[in-house]
Amino acid sequence: MAVKYIFFTGGVVSTVGKGVTAAAVGRLMKERGFAVGVQKLDPYINVDPGTMSPYQHGEVFVLDDGSETDLDLGHYERFIDISLNTVCNVTTGQVYAEVIGKERRGDYLGGTIQVIPHITNEIKHRIGLVAKTTGAEVVLVEIGGTVGDIESLPFLEALRQMRGDLGRENCMYIHVTWLPHIGATKELKTKPTQHSVRELRSIGISPDMIVARSDHPVKQEVCEKIALFCDVEERAVVPLITSPILYEVPLQLENLGVGDYIIERLGLITRRKPDWQEWEWLVSEERRSKPQVNIALVGKYVELHDAYFSVREALDHAALALGIEVKIVWVQSSDLERDRNWDSIQNADGILVPGGFGSRGVEGKIQAIKYAREKEVPYFGLCLGMQLMVVEFGRYLLNSEEPNSTEFDRSTPYPVIDLMPDQRTIADLGGTMRLGLYPCNLQPKTKAAAAYQKDFVEERHRHRFELNNSFRDTLAKGGMLFSGISPDGRLVEIIELIDHPFMLATQFHPEFLSRPNRPHPLFLAFLDAVRKQVGERMDRVNSFELVEEILEQKKTKNEFK
Ligand code: GLN
Repeated sequence: MAVKYIFFTGGVVSTVGKGVTAAAVGRLMKERGFAVGVQKLDPYINVDPGTMSPYQHGEVFVLDDGSETDLDLGHYERFIDISLNTVCNVTTGQVYAEVIGKERRGDYLGGTIQVIPHITNEIKHRIGLVAKTTGAEVVLVEIGGTVGDIESLPFLEALRQMRGDLGRENCMYIHVTWLPHIGATKELKTKPTQHSVRELRSIGISPDMIVARSDHPVKQEVCEKIALFCDVEERAVVPLITSPILYEVPLQLENLGVGDYIIERLGLITRRKPDWQEWEWLVSEERRSKPQVNIALVGKYVELHDAYFSVREALDHAALALGIEVKIVWVQSSDLERDRNWDSIQNADGILVPGGFGSRGVEGKIQAIKYAREKEVPYFGLCLGMQLMVVEFGRYLLNSEEPNSTEFDRSTPYPVIDLMPDQRTIADLGGTMRLGLYPCNLQPKTKAAAAYQKDFVEERHRHRFELNNSFRDTLAKGGMLFSGISPDGRLVEIIELIDHPFMLATQFHPEFLSRPNRPHPLFLAFLDAVRKQVGERMDRVNSFELVEEILEQKKTKNEFK
């Protein structure tokens, strides 16, 4: 069977959920028995998002092979439950770097290098690599940004050419747009969609399907109008209403007949009947009201929740499995340094410090970690969250404020977190970290081993600094366990405290491997510890003893006067 391609373009505005739509369509195809591959084409000039600020770009999603990619690849992996590789995220920067490299080597034999055909050929070559490297039978390709952006033109031109190269029956174009709602007349407007389709046509691409996103119910006549003005079949106009539950999107699209339409349009034969039981369970569990726990997420980029997308998702997956609801309380770590927002920490049932770079807010995170240790609040640290747990514990054991990571204090006498010797000479910032999947042996009788129920795991990394082995003895004597260690014994990958209900942190990013139907074992263990502590507190609240205690406290605070 020829490889089938589905191309996703965006119209009207960005951030309408094109990535989630593509991921959900991928699931529709997988449910029908096809091997699916997905690729994101990002028109920016950076080689990858690895060096971009999370404020600009949201989270950097890391793949098994160490590629630093767009967060949409996280949606693809979670929705379709596949592992993607480096060819699945292409940027203008990569394409030009390759073409210019070839030109310098003289590969073009004196020719003039132009956007068409040289750049477009390189784009088409990279699209072709998805099926070649993953064995995908259906390849979904999403183009970042919206139609009309200058920088996406070469990508759109490449897609246009592909219809001619591969045949109409092997290519399908889905345009995802937005229907603005006019409050005064309570109307949804289709004009911006019409304009963006016109723009797409002027480039030579006619959409086969229009997914019209909206926050409001879409009447039949709105779809009819889009069909008429945009020249697509009426059943190919898909009104996709915003759902607060991300994992409802595949079910919505299935009910709107999208899967069957694509099968028909691409001349495929469904191999198996889609089984949505698991997804229906997920959605109904999300809807059910459940006991709530508060998790303080202490970070640097908390104003932009997308910067921690996979962490949010991983918490959600584990919470669903445990029958609880996680409320994330976003805590800006630099606020804690100014003595602000401590009530969020004091009211939290669990504290999580995610990954991060640079010194802003680091001391606030360390204070939150100290609080978790002293007050026995369950704590989970991810990457930087592990490094700072080591710093905090080092400061406590050595009774000094000086222990630090050399990322933040180069001249500390106690560099408990430091660069490994082989990292010291690296000058470039892009792509030079410890990236991707690394093996880890779990030590028996640790919380980590109990959570995983295994003695060997592989997890995704993205960091430069490591626990400094010369402090292992001191930390261990103080009560820190190194529960995950690289097979060669050189690198500490998981730490935990002996004398604490749950204080565990990982040098890797477990959040990247969590799936809605397969929550990550460490997220499960963390939330389970949180749930248990909340349960105990609730039992105490119900007991007479604690009521007495509260009354006593209130009396001393003169609240009853
Ligand atoms: N800044 C730290 C390092 O480079 C941690 C990185 C992270 O949290 N992803 O090692």
